[in-house]
Amino acid sequence: MGFADRYLHAVNSSDLRDDEHHHATDALCAAALADVTGAGLGSLLSRVKYADGTQHKLFESGSANLASLLRIWTERVIQKGRERKWLKENTAWDADSAQKLYRRIAERSLAHWLDGKCAACSGSGNTLDRRICVTCKGTGKAEITGAGGFELEKVKDMVSELEGLLQSHNARAAGMLRGASHTHRD
Ligand SMILES: [Zn+2]
Repeated sequence: MGFADRYLHAVNSSDLRDDEHHHATDALCAAALADVTGAGLGSLLSRVKYADGTQHKLFESGSANLASLLRIWTERVIQKGRERKWLKENTAWDADSAQKLYRRIAERSLAHWLDGKCAACSGSGNTLDRRICVTCKGTGKAEITGAGGFELEKVKDMVSELEGLLQSHNARAAGMLRGASHTHRD
C-alpha cells in the first residue's frame, strides 16, 4: 500500500486499537509528525484530497476539514499576495478589493485543485476509442473558468503551490512511515 492508501485506511478505520489496524495507527502518527513543519496544511490537504471522496460537493456544503483547509489556505494566499505585492493596498478601497481578490484566488485554486478534472474524459486525457481528448488536449485537466488575465494567472500559480505542498507532505510522511515500521520490527 502506498502512503495515500494507508492514510485513507487510517482515517476511515473506526477502532485504531484493533491489531488489524496496527498499521493504520502508524500512518496517523506519521502524518501528525509530518505536520510539525507543515503547520497543519499538508495533512489537511492529504486528508481532504484522499479521504473525503466527493470533494466538489463537500466544497459547497463545507465539511469541517474542508472549512479549516479553506480558512488556512486563504490566510496563506493573502500572505503570499502581500509578500509578492500582487496589488496596491494604499487606500481603504484598494485594501478591500485586494482582500476580495485574494479570497477568490484562494477559493478557485482550492476548488480546481480538488476537482479539476476534464469533464469530457473524466480526467483520463483520452476518449473511449483511445484518441486524445479534444477538450483538454490530453492533459486530463479542466480549464479554470470564471477568471481571466491576472487573476487566472494567480489561480494557476496557487494550484501549483497546493500540488507542491501535498507532494512534499506525502514525501515527508512516507519517509517517517518507513522509519516507524523499521522501529517496530526491531
Ligand atoms: Zn479531456
